[in-house]
Amino acid sequence: MSTTWDEASKCPRDGAYTGIVKTRKTIPGQGQLVELQCPEDHCPFHETGWIVQVRPDGTIPDKAEVREKQFPKTSSSETRRRAALDLLEEQVQRELRQGKAAGR
Ligand SMILES: [Zn+2]
Repeated sequence: MSTTWDEASKCPRDGAYTGIVKTRKTIPGQGQLVELQCPEDHCPFHETGWIVQVRPDGTIPDKAEVREKQFPKTSSSETRRRAALDLLEEQVQRELRQGKAAGR
Protein backbone atom coordinates (compact mmCIF):
# COMPACT_ATOMS: atom_id res chain seq x y z
CA MET A 1 0.00 0.00 0.00
CA SER A 2 1.28 3.44 -0.81
CA THR A 3 -0.06 6.93 -1.22
CA THR A 4 1.02 10.16 -2.88
CA TRP A 5 2.78 13.05 -1.19
CA ASP A 6 -0.19 15.16 -2.13
CA GLU A 7 -2.48 12.96 -0.05
CA ALA A 8 -0.06 12.26 2.76
CA SER A 9 0.67 15.94 3.29
CA LYS A 10 -2.98 16.81 3.84
CA CYS A 11 -4.23 17.15 7.42
CA PRO A 12 -5.23 13.69 8.75
CA ARG A 13 -8.31 15.19 10.40
CA ASP A 14 -10.29 16.15 7.33
CA GLY A 15 -7.83 16.72 4.50
CA ALA A 16 -8.99 20.31 4.13
CA TYR A 17 -5.55 21.78 4.75
CA THR A 18 -2.14 20.90 3.44
CA GLY A 19 0.42 20.55 6.18
CA ILE A 20 3.48 22.71 6.57
CA VAL A 21 6.75 20.79 6.68
CA LYS A 22 8.35 21.28 10.10
CA THR A 23 11.24 18.83 10.09
CA ARG A 24 12.76 16.20 7.88
CA LYS A 25 14.63 13.41 9.52
CA THR A 26 16.75 11.25 7.25
CA ILE A 27 17.25 7.64 8.21
CA PRO A 28 20.32 6.39 6.36
CA GLY A 29 19.36 4.02 3.59
CA GLN A 30 15.70 4.07 4.59
CA GLY A 31 14.31 7.37 3.48
CA GLN A 32 12.90 10.25 5.46
CA LEU A 33 10.44 10.93 8.21
CA VAL A 34 8.79 14.24 7.43
CA GLU A 35 6.96 16.02 10.21
CA LEU A 36 4.06 18.20 9.16
CA GLN A 37 1.82 20.65 10.98
CA CYS A 38 -1.72 21.70 10.14
CA PRO A 39 -1.86 25.45 9.34
CA GLU A 40 -5.30 25.70 10.94
CA ASP A 41 -4.97 27.00 14.53
CA HIS A 42 -7.90 25.11 16.01
CA CYS A 43 -7.03 21.76 14.55
CA PRO A 44 -5.57 19.15 16.93
CA PHE A 45 -2.93 18.47 14.29
CA HIS A 46 -1.77 22.08 14.52
CA GLU A 47 -0.27 21.28 17.89
CA THR A 48 0.72 17.66 17.52
CA GLY A 49 1.55 17.54 13.85
CA TRP A 50 1.84 14.28 12.01
CA ILE A 51 4.57 12.30 10.37
CA VAL A 52 4.86 11.04 6.84
CA GLN A 53 7.38 8.42 5.91
CA VAL A 54 9.02 8.71 2.52
CA ARG A 55 10.86 5.60 1.43
CA PRO A 56 14.22 5.84 -0.35
CA ASP A 57 12.51 5.15 -3.67
CA GLY A 58 10.16 8.07 -3.06
CA THR A 59 7.04 6.04 -2.29
CA ILE A 60 4.96 6.78 0.78
CA PRO A 61 3.29 4.08 2.86
CA ASP A 62 -0.47 4.45 3.18
CA LYS A 63 -1.01 6.69 6.19
CA ALA A 64 -3.70 4.39 7.54
CA GLU A 65 -0.84 2.03 8.37
CA VAL A 66 0.81 4.50 10.70
CA ARG A 67 -2.01 6.68 11.94
CA GLU A 68 -3.00 4.55 14.95
CA LYS A 69 0.52 4.39 16.25
CA GLN A 70 1.09 8.05 15.73
CA PHE A 71 -0.33 9.36 18.99
CA PRO A 72 0.35 7.16 21.96
CA LYS A 73 -1.37 8.36 25.11
CA THR A 74 1.32 10.34 26.87
CA SER A 75 1.26 13.59 28.74
CA SER A 76 2.61 16.31 26.50
CA SER A 77 2.47 16.89 22.80
CA GLU A 78 6.25 17.09 22.69
CA THR A 79 6.57 13.65 24.28
CA ARG A 80 3.92 12.38 21.91
CA ARG A 81 5.81 13.83 18.98
CA ARG A 82 9.04 12.15 20.00
CA ALA A 83 7.27 8.88 20.67
CA ALA A 84 5.63 9.03 17.27
CA LEU A 85 9.00 9.54 15.61
CA ASP A 86 10.49 6.64 17.55
CA LEU A 87 7.58 4.38 16.73
CA LEU A 88 7.75 5.20 13.09
CA GLU A 89 11.46 4.61 13.04
CA GLU A 90 10.89 1.23 14.65
CA GLN A 91 8.33 0.47 12.01
CA VAL A 92 10.75 1.40 9.27
CA GLN A 93 13.35 -0.90 10.73
CA ARG A 94 10.85 -3.73 11.05
CA GLU A 95 9.62 -3.24 7.53
CA LEU A 96 13.16 -3.32 6.24
CA ARG A 97 13.88 -6.55 8.09
CA GLN A 98 10.68 -8.12 6.78
CA GLY A 99 11.58 -6.98 3.30
CA LYS A 100 14.95 -8.65 3.59
CA ALA A 101 13.41 -11.83 5.00
CA ALA A 102 10.98 -11.96 2.08
CA GLY A 103 13.92 -11.71 -0.29
CA ARG A 104 12.90 -8.39 -1.81
ZN1 LIG B 1 -6.06 20.14 10.44
